[in-house]
Amino acid sequence: MTSSPKNSSAVALVSGASRGIGRACAEALHHSGFRVALHYRSDSHLAHKVSSTLDGSQTFCYDLTDPEAAQKMIHDVKEQMGEFPDVLINNAGITIDKLAMMTSDADFDQLITTNLGASFRLCRAMAKPMMRKKSGRIINITSIIGHTGQRGQSIYSATKAAITAFTQSLAGELGRFGVLCNCVAPGYIDTQMTEDFPEARKQHILTRIHLERSGSPKEVGDVVAFLASDKASYITGTTIHVNGGMAGF
Ligand code: NDP
Repeated sequence: MTSSPKNSSAVALVSGASRGIGRACAEALHHSGFRVALHYRSDSHLAHKVSSTLDGSQTFCYDLTDPEAAQKMIHDVKEQMGEFPDVLINNAGITIDKLAMMTSDADFDQLITTNLGASFRLCRAMAKPMMRKKSGRIINITSIIGHTGQRGQSIYSATKAAITAFTQSLAGELGRFGVLCNCVAPGYIDTQMTEDFPEARKQHILTRIHLERSGSPKEVGDVVAFLASDKASYITGTTIHVNGGMAGF
């Protein structure tokens, strides 16, 4: 299949890849043999620094809340890297932690547009090129919270649950064309998104994890690289949880 890293031209597009889980996905895919299209939004210095360590990678700067960004970016990838992406990782995302009753319409719109909207638009933009190639992998980064819910993260959790259901439906629409669609749902991972959690909250989360520690971005990136590989050729429409065994789930 064309997404095989054995094919030296195979390209993997990772959104939000300048740091955190996205960066780890880019690194793991690079190690698997993919040329990485590294998307970032704001930190061009960091994005270029990461890219300089990944031979054959190129950087693409877009704010994914722009409705035209997805279509423009995949055409940029085709133009600059010679191929549409064989693998798409929808990783870019935000959280706005507030009780539902305190959440403004603007917070709601920002969460929906960034998390669900950007993933939807990139999947839509990639569907035709992947269908034409009769192969492709779409891996959407969701969250344990999209399966369990979490006080103070109601809209964030709703966006992740929506991406999960969207991915299952997309797997049904694209399966006959050889395009596999899955989610990877991280638990509590050490990144900029979680570093400012109050200490008490961090300790409480750790009591719920069987392995009694947070996860590293690499531990998520490695699972993403597995799903992008030939070894995962009969897996679609599902979610792989990477959470150290969160109690109650
Ligand atoms: P980070 O905050 O470290 O990284 C988020 C990335 O998304 C950044 O690169 C950011 O770019 C990018 N991004 C945010 N908004 C936009 C936008 N409008 N357009 C383009 N890019 C944007 O978070 P993590 O690495 O922790 O999270 C990555 C994914 O994993 C997210 O989807 C998150 O929900 C999910 N996740 C994380 C968990 C964790 O414990 N860390 C747990 C479960 C899920 P910029 O640098 O410009 O801000």
